[in-house]
Amino acid sequence: MTQEKLKHYEKKLLVMQDEILTNIIGETSDEENPFQVDGDLADKAEAFSSVAISEGLSTTQKETLELIRKALQRIKNGNFGTCLACSVEIETERLEAIPYAETCKKHMSETRYR
Ligand SMILES: [Zn+2]
Repeated sequence: MTQEKLKHYEKKLLVMQDEILTNIIGETSDEENPFQVDGDLADKAEAFSSVAISEGLSTTQKETLELIRKALQRIKNGNFGTCLACSVEIETERLEAIPYAETCKKHMSETRYR
């Protein structure tokens, strides 16, 4: 995978992460929100990693955030986009739809994440 593609997916992941976190903010007070962090989305994610916020997350949101976090880690580690089950490159269209996918189409039914 090219650096350009990695950047593309990294951005998608950060946007998805931000959307989840923004949804949570929407449900909390809109006054003096301590999580209104300007600048980098990654910085914002740091701010959100507090226990207080994670308690406000649904299980699905927590799982998705965790998958996004792991995907971002894989981008850093240089093994992003390969199936955890068979090590082939995950289909582009699958990554476009689910950039935090951990498996190729063939193996997606074998994990609880689709
Ligand atoms: Zn596979």
